[in-house]
Amino acid sequence: MADSETATEERIVRLQVAAARQEESGRGVARLPRSAMQTLGVTEGDVVQLSGKRSTAAIVIAAHDEDQALAVVRLDGLQRANAEVGSGEHVKIEAAQSRPATRVVFAPASREMRLQGPTQALKRNFFRKPIVSGDLVATTGQQPVQNMPPEVQRMFNAPAYALTQIRLRVISTAPKGIVHIDENTEIELRPDFEEPKAGRSVVNYDDVGGISETIQQLREMVELPLRYPELFTRLGVDPPKGVLLHGPPGTGKTRLAQAVANESDAEFFAINGPEIMGSGYGESEKRLREVFESANQAAPAIIFIDEIDSIAPKRDSVPGEAEKRLVAQLLTLMDGLESRANIVVIAATNRPDAIDEALRRPGRFDREIVIGVPDETGRREILAIHTRGMPLGEGVDLKELARVTHGFVGADIAALAREAAIDAVRRIMPQIDLDAQTIPPEVLEGLHVGRDDFLSALKR
Ligand code: ADP
Repeated sequence: MADSETATEERIVRLQVAAARQEESGRGVARLPRSAMQTLGVTEGDVVQLSGKRSTAAIVIAAHDEDQALAVVRLDGLQRANAEVGSGEHVKIEAAQSRPATRVVFAPASREMRLQGPTQALKRNFFRKPIVSGDLVATTGQQPVQNMPPEVQRMFNAPAYALTQIRLRVISTAPKGIVHIDENTEIELRPDFEEPKAGRSVVNYDDVGGISETIQQLREMVELPLRYPELFTRLGVDPPKGVLLHGPPGTGKTRLAQAVANESDAEFFAINGPEIMGSGYGESEKRLREVFESANQAAPAIIFIDEIDSIAPKRDSVPGEAEKRLVAQLLTLMDGLESRANIVVIAATNRPDAIDEALRRPGRFDREIVIGVPDETGRREILAIHTRGMPLGEGVDLKELARVTHGFVGADIAALAREAAIDAVRRIMPQIDLDAQTIPPEVLEGLHVGRDDFLSALKR
């Protein structure tokens, strides 16, 4: 009990982390049981600091009734990434103060993204939200769009705006520590990705929909051994080295592997089967060896091999020496991985029967997880993910859309949401003065993705 008394004096609590409900994801709040709020001396709306391996901040709100008796704090995927803590782990929570920022610099959180444009929208978006330099934050509402069709792009000479959630990194703040943006904050948006100090990818479990059982299985197989190798040492068994993800294209295999790496605090290395096959004589093996070598140096790490059937086809069915050598190289590398190396290799294929049997022996890819085409509930979840942060028109019913998208995989649903957003942009184009630098706020306010936008996108 001495422990908790000290904790009370210092106004610190440690709670287990649980995932925020889907609909609360992205709001930047931490749901705390009232008992914890009392210990901390905070009320709803106050700021707390959350510390796992890193520290970040959140606004307190009271836990849902059914959570009051549990010693958990609900955090969304971004918050878990920012605090560097996984679901089920403990996070330290302290009462904190946020100071007004004089200056905040943002940059895109991923390499593929390039942004430019006015920063008022950012100011509105993050107004009064507590942030810490290095945090990953998500915008909601109108943001510059990527993948604009050229005919739309040509019509805008100022940055084109549409309706997609964009992740940004807080590059720096003045002052340092926990700050918030207010009327007087000067905001800078850098156009290009900047390497964060600790390189974490930005996808997490909240971004993969409709496969919660699969996530659970993969967590046990991958996250557990990467995080707690001592569990396996103690039991005298070898942790799994290889997992085969089996399912049709576009069902989220790559995204899931990235999420696991991210949530396990592991470095992520990706190898694309067909791409590596295309390298010159001897080059493919060399590339493979290099990736395994880099993973070894960076461990804990996950190596993801997409379309493994193309680099490791059944040896008796391939004519070429090159393929045979590559399969052999992969087997050697797998066997060479020490079981305590803290590396898990995840391979994806939609043709599990086409890969060399030797790869599936014990100690290699001896676990298999099947990812199927999502059912209606799954599609609903995936729709929620891809419309997160979109201002949806009143008639939009995700349940209805889930019902009419039978047979769609995650990638199809992502494309549908993108197309619907672009339709919405096309609709407001007549109201836009193409010579103006920015789009007037009232036009942006009126921008909604409606039911018809989805339905016409569906027809294409
Ligand atoms: P795979 O590796 O199975 O071919 P990806 O992970 O590359 O599929 O998915 C491609 C894109 O489709 C993702 O970036 C994402 O936008 C979307 N997507 C696919 N599956 C899901 C899912 N289960 N939940 C959310 N988005 C998904």
